[in-house]
Amino acid sequence: MLIFERSHPGRRNAAQAPHFAAAISGPSTGLRAGIPAALLRQDQPLLPEASEMDVVRHYTRLSQKNFSIDTHFYPLGSCTMKYNPRACNTLAMLPNFLARHPLAPETTGQGVLACLYDLQEILKDVTGMAGVSLMPMAGAQGEFAGVAMIRAYHDARGDTGRTEIIVPDAAHGTNPATAVMCGYTVKEIPTDTNGDVDLDALRAATGPQTAGLMLTNPSTLGVFEKRITDIQKIIHDAGGLLYYDGANLNAILGKVKPGDMGFDVIHMNLHKTFSTPHGGGGPGAGAVGVAERLLPFLPLPVVAKELPSPSGGGVGGEDVFRYLTEADLPQSIGHLSAFSGNIGILLRAYVYARMLGTEGMHRVAEFATLNANYLMAELGKAGFTVAFPQRRASHEFIVSMKPLKDATGISAMDVAKRLLDKGFHPPTTYFPMLVPECLLIEPTETESKETLDGFVAALKEIRDEAYATPELVKGAPHTMPVRRLDDVKAARELDLTWKSNSTLL
Ligand SMILES: *Cc1c(COP(=O)(O)O)cnc(C)c1O
Repeated sequence: MLIFERSHPGRRNAAQAPHFAAAISGPSTGLRAGIPAALLRQDQPLLPEASEMDVVRHYTRLSQKNFSIDTHFYPLGSCTMKYNPRACNTLAMLPNFLARHPLAPETTGQGVLACLYDLQEILKDVTGMAGVSLMPMAGAQGEFAGVAMIRAYHDARGDTGRTEIIVPDAAHGTNPATAVMCGYTVKEIPTDTNGDVDLDALRAATGPQTAGLMLTNPSTLGVFEKRITDIQKIIHDAGGLLYYDGANLNAILGKVKPGDMGFDVIHMNLHKTFSTPHGGGGPGAGAVGVAERLLPFLPLPVVAKELPSPSGGGVGGEDVFRYLTEADLPQSIGHLSAFSGNIGILLRAYVYARMLGTEGMHRVAEFATLNANYLMAELGKAGFTVAFPQRRASHEFIVSMKPLKDATGISAMDVAKRLLDKGFHPPTTYFPMLVPECLLIEPTETESKETLDGFVAALKEIRDEAYATPELVKGAPHTMPVRRLDDVKAARELDLTWKSNSTLL
């Protein structure tokens, strides 16, 4: 039921403050006093009319229908649905941050600029890159910025014959999409039986037409590419640049740096690795880091620190922070948003990084990989088919339900839906498409051993049910507010607009 359907004409939230209700609804008094009659709307806005308690109960009930990290284990591979400390939220929502207007002058925003500058420095350090821009507002937009910089670099050198971007088939789906958005042709190369890039195919695909290669690492198969330095050499020798999809940095944080591996550009999903509640399409932050040669092309604005000057700013000898503009970076690929990116997300990332410190970052990587490897080993012991048992997992790994499907007809999707009844959010299903009937499982660093053991037990129960009572699994979920939905209809006939049948319209 929608809040509009709970509406009763004349019902207000101000039962305890009648004078306020009168001020709002009186025709020429209260809040409307002084506004010329011609500017006042004549008809009522089509808003729900409900008491405060109606509203509180409605939204509380809705929130209880949700599966969320706050209520359930959420091993959605590639999405890093980990616990986001409340402190990040609280500090990012300090009233002075929230009240700051995006057009307010830099002189009144030195505090927030100092935080953003520090975050740029932390991300440079973590990735080993020479410069960082925080502007992209999603991972995919970070990729767009990164490949646009690769393009700008080649163009600036008059090297215009490079028309192709190489993308391994174990890359995230946004990688080839990004290359196409930037005007490149995608050359896909296969993965070998170990889950690594097929080097012979890479050599054959590389040439003077190669603008660069986009590598998702760890790949969507959950493995860390073994021959990363060979790949680096093949691409650089051909004059191409190397792009690192670092959306999921939690497996390597504080352990290895893409800059040291020779990458020219990287994006990181701050909303995944650096802690912001995400999902449902946003909000996000896809900061980009670049090597020396791409510095002139960074998206604007970038925060710079300047020494205090005698004439301007720098009260009491403090550092002065300012946004760099086109005047500073004339070759920049430009702006990606109206103002300065998703500052609320950037502040959460900053608080998170400062809370972790260097030691905490190491622990993130250690626990992300320990949890993934523990869960992979336990599921392997329980007889499930791990896709790459010979490889260590990074932050995630794949289990194939193909043997179960062959034996019982129960698919990966059936298992995923039944997991909901057992109190677990399903893993990512049918992605990547390289492994049939796959579940891509990412336990994240914030889960306990008991939770992981509970998840293994649930999967074993479902496997037993698949043999004993397959109809039960096929009909799942049975305990959720909605049953199995028609995904195709939902996608093809998406209808999110409430239409009133009220005569007010
Ligand atoms: C999530 C993800 C992306 C895309 O990030 P968005 O913020 O959803 O645009 C890109 N690459 C990988 C590997 C990812 O996991």
